[in-house]
Amino acid sequence: MDFALSLDQKTLMKDIEEFSRRYLAPIAAECDEKQEFIPTPIWRKMASLGYCGLPIPTGYGGAGLGALDTYMCLEAAGRGGAAAGHLLSWAVSMVLGSVALIKFGTEEQKKRYLPRIANGDLICAFCLTEPDAGSDAGSIRTQAVRRGDYYILNGTKSFVTNGPIADLCLVFVSTNPDMGPRGISVFLVESSFPGFSRGKKLNKLGVRSSPTSELIFSDCEVPAENLLGAEGEGFKIVAHQILEWERANFSFFLGVMDYNLQTCIKYARERIQFKRPIAEFQAIQHMLAEMKVELDAAKLMCYRVAWMIDQGMVPAPIEASSAKYFLAQALKKNADYAVQIHGANGMMKEYPLERSLRDYKILEIGGGTTQIQLDIIARNLLGGGVSR
Ligand SMILES: Cc1cc2nc3c(=O)[nH]c(=O)nc-3n(C[C@H](O)[C@H](O)[C@H](O)COP(=O)(O)OP(=O)(O)OC[C@H]3O[C@@H](n4cnc5c(N)ncnc54)[C@H](O)[C@@H]3O)c2cc1C
Repeated sequence: MDFALSLDQKTLMKDIEEFSRRYLAPIAAECDEKQEFIPTPIWRKMASLGYCGLPIPTGYGGAGLGALDTYMCLEAAGRGGAAAGHLLSWAVSMVLGSVALIKFGTEEQKKRYLPRIANGDLICAFCLTEPDAGSDAGSIRTQAVRRGDYYILNGTKSFVTNGPIADLCLVFVSTNPDMGPRGISVFLVESSFPGFSRGKKLNKLGVRSSPTSELIFSDCEVPAENLLGAEGEGFKIVAHQILEWERANFSFFLGVMDYNLQTCIKYARERIQFKRPIAEFQAIQHMLAEMKVELDAAKLMCYRVAWMIDQGMVPAPIEASSAKYFLAQALKKNADYAVQIHGANGMMKEYPLERSLRDYKILEIGGGTTQIQLDIIARNLLGGGVSR
């Protein structure tokens, strides 16, 4: 594995980190408080710089980056101080919104949607979870029935990242309930289609600047040409192509962890107690050292998954689930130590650290819980299949 960056890559990461420091970090606290996505003028600026289409091929208006480069860019934005909620929404829209389309879309579907994702016109959502189908994603009940040139969708998707603002939704439905997971299909559903509606924005503990809601499909009319892949291929799309991207999509938290560590180093050098900087106390030094070790370990595990995606070495369920599992544990400790090193200040909203202590929970729940990641690792060790 070679993670060495070219000069062009280094320049891009540096630019994104600087952009984040200048435009995203200053709005992080307020957007978290108000539960708001990136304001439109900043989103537009990101699009004009090519940041909304990083993994989209150049022929469709994107930057044509692979998984490793895409995730390093999101990590760079995290290092610059962007809110995890903004990074989550950006990653879900840009990565999960485009990857299945790139791999399984018809030429017509790619031409219609990819350039508009890259230019920031379309915000995407990935809709799998339902009120009665979370970890057990194979048991989804939203159904699509073919009627002439349309499919008619009925059902509800829950906890949809970008639900309140999405223009284009990848919706997993059952087209053949008798087939269970093998009867799942994916549709590209525009928010303007008749029968599409949104639930109210949900009030969350963490990643608050990533808007979340239910999406309701009530006799929703979807043109037949908006079926992604073939009928019944939904499970294949998730299990064999998207799963690694979905797990690795949280890699932006590496940047958040780095940001927290750098903030702690600066604070520990400046904060005086007992007539000395607290950085001179071994207890503080050890917390900083542990934060660094676990950041680097998580980084290597996440980079390995992204590198495997780029090499076509997927499915890689053990590596992908291990990376997500470990990143969650490392982030939890990083957030806890960051607040601890800052003492009372760490708990205050004026400092950018208490947010991580709320945000980390998404990594233990979203995209497959910690228990399910361990379950997948164990099942694959013992000889089993792939699931959420
Ligand atoms: C902020 C946020 C954003 C999200 N965004 C999206 C999105 O964009 N798209 C989307 O489709 N979904 C999204 N989700 C949903 C997320 O993927 C699900 O919440 C997750 O898969 C878990 O499902 P659940 O909440 O129904 O929990 P459940 O499946 O009900 O699990 C409850 C508990 O039981 C445990 N459990 C369940 N089954 C097992 C088992 N077999 N073995 C051991 N333990 C088990 C779980 O680990 C968990 O601790 C989001 C969730 C959140 C919180």
